[in-house]
Amino acid sequence: MKNHVRVLVIGGGVVGVSTLYHLTRKGWKDVALIERTELTAGSTWHAAGLLPLFNMSYTVGQLHKYSVDLYKRLPAETGQDVSFHVSGNLRLATCRERMDEYYKYCGTANTIGVPFEVIGPKQVKELWPLLELGGSADTPAIIGALYHPDDGHIAPADLTMALRKGARAAGAEIYEHTEATAIERTASGEWQVRTSKGDITAEHLVLATGNYARQSGRLLGLNVPAIPVEHQYIVYDESPELKAYRQGGGRELAVLRESDQSYYLREERMGWILGPYEKGAPARFADGVPEWFGRSLFPGDLDRLVPHVEAATRRVPALENCGIKDIVNGPISYTPDGSPLIGPAWGLRNVWLNEGHSFGITAAGGSGWQLAEWIVEGEPGIDMLAVDPRRFGAYTSKRYVVKKNEETYRNVFTIHFPDEERPEARPAKSSPVYDKLSRRGAVWGQRYGWERANWFAPPGVECRDRWSFRRSNYFEHVGREARLMREQVGVIDLTPFTKHEVSGPGAEAWLDGLVANKVPARVGRMALSHALTRRGGIRSEFTITKIAEQHFYVVSAGAAERYDSDYLFKALPRDGSVTLRNITGSRGCFVLAGPKSREVLSQLTDTALDNASFPWLTAQTIEVGLAVDVYALRVNFVGALGWELHFPVEYAHNLFDALFEAGEDHGIGMVGMRAMESLRMEKSYRMWGTDLTPDYTPFEAGLDRFVRMNKGAFIGREALEKQLAAGVPNRFITLEVHGVTDADPLGNEPLFDAGGRMIGRATSGYYGHCLRKSLAIGYAQAQFAQPGTQLGIEILGEARQATVLRESPYDPDNLELRA
Ligand SMILES: Cc1cc2nc3c(=O)[nH]c(=O)nc-3n(C[C@H](O)[C@H](O)[C@H](O)COP(=O)(O)OP(=O)(O)OC[C@H]3O[C@@H](n4cnc5c(N)ncnc54)[C@H](O)[C@@H]3O)c2cc1C
Repeated sequence: MKNHVRVLVIGGGVVGVSTLYHLTRKGWKDVALIERTELTAGSTWHAAGLLPLFNMSYTVGQLHKYSVDLYKRLPAETGQDVSFHVSGNLRLATCRERMDEYYKYCGTANTIGVPFEVIGPKQVKELWPLLELGGSADTPAIIGALYHPDDGHIAPADLTMALRKGARAAGAEIYEHTEATAIERTASGEWQVRTSKGDITAEHLVLATGNYARQSGRLLGLNVPAIPVEHQYIVYDESPELKAYRQGGGRELAVLRESDQSYYLREERMGWILGPYEKGAPARFADGVPEWFGRSLFPGDLDRLVPHVEAATRRVPALENCGIKDIVNGPISYTPDGSPLIGPAWGLRNVWLNEGHSFGITAAGGSGWQLAEWIVEGEPGIDMLAVDPRRFGAYTSKRYVVKKNEETYRNVFTIHFPDEERPEARPAKSSPVYDKLSRRGAVWGQRYGWERANWFAPPGVECRDRWSFRRSNYFEHVGREARLMREQVGVIDLTPFTKHEVSGPGAEAWLDGLVANKVPARVGRMALSHALTRRGGIRSEFTITKIAEQHFYVVSAGAAERYDSDYLFKALPRDGSVTLRNITGSRGCFVLAGPKSREVLSQLTDTALDNASFPWLTAQTIEVGLAVDVYALRVNFVGALGWELHFPVEYAHNLFDALFEAGEDHGIGMVGMRAMESLRMEKSYRMWGTDLTPDYTPFEAGLDRFVRMNKGAFIGREALEKQLAAGVPNRFITLEVHGVTDADPLGNEPLFDAGGRMIGRATSGYYGHCLRKSLAIGYAQAQFAQPGTQLGIEILGEARQATVLRESPYDPDNLELRA
């Protein structure tokens, strides 16, 4: 065994081996993998081998697409067959909401180039003659289906062996029966791994340990939010009906998914494999995989399987005549949102995770591809935020992860409504005024563990969402809140904001090198600033306020706490000239905005609030009511006169009551996240993580005024220079969508030119309640960005006309903000 390598991958399942393979494809040959027993001994050997292209996530969809394409070419490249059956994939729908989900997915599929067809019952029967179209109470009629002709199923062990062959041929080493038992950092900053076969030191470490993610994370002091859940499938004997169909010349049947009954069914040696996602499947190994488990499986749990077996047998009566050969019940790794953890570990340099895969056979190719890119190039080639391990934070306690993973598992096949808010492990983190907001009718959602009020039900209205792809029960209430903000005064509780304090003699110069904008030079000034990737894409968005000399208050999205904190801490200079503190938990934030906000705030403070004394885009440390040391920032995300009040959290109750008391005569009210979405869309305000991602540069995003090319060096500057020289390919646009009656754009809709060619994508959309227009924002090829340009947009399968608007259709000159 070598004693030093550039990258050491720990874990020899399909994901680890794919990572190793892709590192060699990037030209890094001094790489090795260790596996505690034998390759594929974890979950890989018993996987059912399905490769579904279907995924609602723009990122995961791209990873799956890459995998499917790679697996088709691997046999020719490596000489190892992988038994890829391109049988296609058929997802049935028996209700309108399910069809809406498929149509919503089609938007994403179109924007990433995944081929699919939406078909009717007649075509379903032609593709799958052994299926009953149904129409009774217990077997509902199929009303349509989503068909992917290009995917199917594969032999997971053969796939792993092909990747192994490719990696080895390029110089990678694989050591089986070699377990990592301890990890230490060397004085030079490398990683020394103690194994059962001796020590090995590596510049970079990749953890790809599947069900062992908890204990391998612990070797490094990481609490990895990946805990497996039991997952089982049934293997049936030969089916006479299937045999007759195939011997009669029938082609292999597509993998069938009856989503509304939560199961999949595929052919296996003239019989079947039936896999349900059942209710009640327990999480396992929260404290680590016990020594005795090894390559074993759990006993099958028939009780959990029965309802799905019965539903499948009603749909495919041929199942009735087959005996059950085997039940495979194995651990399948999960994370609280069901997506894997691919990317840097937080707090540690050169440690990478490729963990938490529940569709690991499907995702292995794509995850290895992008992780290798990230390790070798320093950043991934596509926007990986949806799978970045730092999208979770310290709140992912063991009990949180267990509850969430069990919930995610049992919801694999439920309809993924865009406004869905799942109930488990809540409330986890909440603002001090949570109870006060509940009493005001808050209907809660959750992001990054935080409870956030989505909207407020007035007295007599049920505090509950009816989730939908279309306008729903909260539509008019959200409209009322949006108008309140535009016409009177509203409060939004944005306590979850991520907040850092940067101080010390090197603070200003250090921050300036991280972001594209100029860091404010004068105390009391603020600047919207973007940290870029080296390719010039947008990685983070910070509002930087100069509180005092060499003292900056840095605010970013609530969901970016670990993502931003990790970036900032890793970038700190080593000379001690900068002090960085994450103070997210110690300050709350209320947004007070609307035309009456000045009158309300002026009752509570002696600070002059007129335009000359407290202009737009400035900040002061003031007293508000009994609260002292309140950072008042004259800025907000809704485009109204107003202040963000960032206060020491212990004043939350008093400040809240004081604002409402002072605002009573002005009609003050609470405003939720959905109204904020509507308001920001009317102002063309881009949301970090959705509209602003590493896929687009600030020039494409129309943020030119926040980029100072002449200020000196900053990360991403060279890439921007190149883009300016070559021409900016895409432009940010705001669209009015015409003819919408009940389904507004929500993001990930493709945009078309007059000839039907795809020329861009919407990244967000919502109904603008004050403008009374259905709005979308997104990116189009530069020649289609002129106001007045007519484009096509597809919403839930319906073609709509859209007009490019001048930016910020509400109050384009910001007169209300400056009022
Ligand atoms: C019943 C079932 C059916 C499934 N069907 C499908 C499917 O149809 N399609 C699909 O895409 N996915 C499916 N999956 C999921 C799929 O099996 C996993 O996502 C995938 O195998 C994960 O691969 P991995 O490499 O991350 O983990 P694993 O295959 O579990 O590999 C991790 C490896 O790390 C090794 N290891 C751990 N700790 C150490 C250490 N300290 N030192 C050295 N080595 C270590 C382990 O021994 C193990 O071999 C299924 C899962 C189950 C349970």
